[in-house]
Amino acid sequence: MSTDVEALVVGGGVVGLAIAAELARRGGAPLLVEQHARVGMETSSRNSEVIHAGLYYPPGSLKARLCVEGRELLYRFAAESGVTAKQIGKLVVATSDSEVPALAALADNATRNGVDDLVLLDAAAARALEPAVSCVSAFLSPSTGIVDSHGLMLALEGHIQAYGGEIALATRAVSFTRTGEHFAVELESAGALTTLTTRALIISTGLQASTLSAELFKGTPYDPPQTLLAKGHYFTLAARAPFSRLIYPMPPPGGLGVHLTLDTAGAARFGPDVQWIAEASYDFDDPEGARRRSFERAIRRWWPDLPNDALLAGYTGIRPKISRPGEPAADFAIHGPATHGIERLVALFGIESPGLTAALAIARHVAGLIDA
Ligand SMILES: Cc1cc2nc3c(=O)[nH]c(=O)nc-3n(C[C@H](O)[C@H](O)[C@H](O)COP(=O)(O)OP(=O)(O)OC[C@H]3O[C@@H](n4cnc5c(N)ncnc54)[C@H](O)[C@@H]3O)c2cc1C
Repeated sequence: MSTDVEALVVGGGVVGLAIAAELARRGGAPLLVEQHARVGMETSSRNSEVIHAGLYYPPGSLKARLCVEGRELLYRFAAESGVTAKQIGKLVVATSDSEVPALAALADNATRNGVDDLVLLDAAAARALEPAVSCVSAFLSPSTGIVDSHGLMLALEGHIQAYGGEIALATRAVSFTRTGEHFAVELESAGALTTLTTRALIISTGLQASTLSAELFKGTPYDPPQTLLAKGHYFTLAARAPFSRLIYPMPPPGGLGVHLTLDTAGAARFGPDVQWIAEASYDFDDPEGARRRSFERAIRRWWPDLPNDALLAGYTGIRPKISRPGEPAADFAIHGPATHGIERLVALFGIESPGLTAALAIARHVAGLIDA
């Protein structure tokens, strides 16, 4: 592993990998360090693997812009790199008359984000597409899709190495100092400490972004955002689902509602719900089956024929939130020199959904902040 590099990316989730791949493609010879023995073992492998169209985010926000741009980049990258991605589309459904105005407002928001292919459907048209669905009206988002997130991360690893970048696994960044034009970063690997110098530093550490930044920005006037944790649980379906598209209800605060997604092999999963937690833990807790019953109630609003006892406990993922419970979702916080005043340093906070979809566009944005 090099000990003096042009750019160091800390964090080997999909976003850090995409950033390192972009820097490598631009000739920046980055080093990426990841604390676990493999890349993508945290949020990047614990999500819905949906390529979002860009429906939900406030127009003009980074989430809206980078999702729409990232979605196109992702479909193209997947096609060129042999990563499985399928543009299967999704239905967003209103299950009562009271939800119809919110459905219309969501469609209008999506249009303002540049999502120009939505198809409004009445109940009969929705059932013609998805006979098992129950709703009073819906819209179809044809540009929504799914991606094999593991395949994507493998392909990004390949790109980093093919363009002259390096990846050091089982290597944790533990402390930082600024020395003139450079950053000195202490790395811990197999119990041994080494110090590396880098001209550019990117902190893409997901759930740990605030903890690391507290150390990094100590003694500066900049106050990094606090990361709060919102866990989501997924149930899987014991049988094949009678749907060929993704089905989403109207979104409640903090998440997108208990929805159906399909993985690229066709297996169905439901979730994620929203549970604010104090400390990161991926345990799947379902005290006395209360969570399962609550999922069943939510799913039967749009799939009344969900069989009894069909849901199996699946897995969990944790959203790195920088908004508090009850507040509107915050935008991605991608803080470069214009925010904190330090050249060639970018720290990313609150990279929750649609971070997988947006990863390649986030990478371009970050590379622009470093080059500027
Ligand atoms: C429940 C859930 C569902 C989601 N569904 C979708 C979806 O369908 N579509 C979509 O577009 N997005 C979705 N997202 C969002 C998406 O998964 C994330 O935005 C994305 O995975 C974030 O990637 P990341 O690289 O920023 O973070 P992570 O994947 O968390 O990667 C950060 C990495 O940094 C490493 N790290 C931390 N500290 C250090 C250190 N000191 N030294 C070295 N390494 C370190 C960690 O080990 C980790 O591997 C979902 C998120 C959740 C939680």
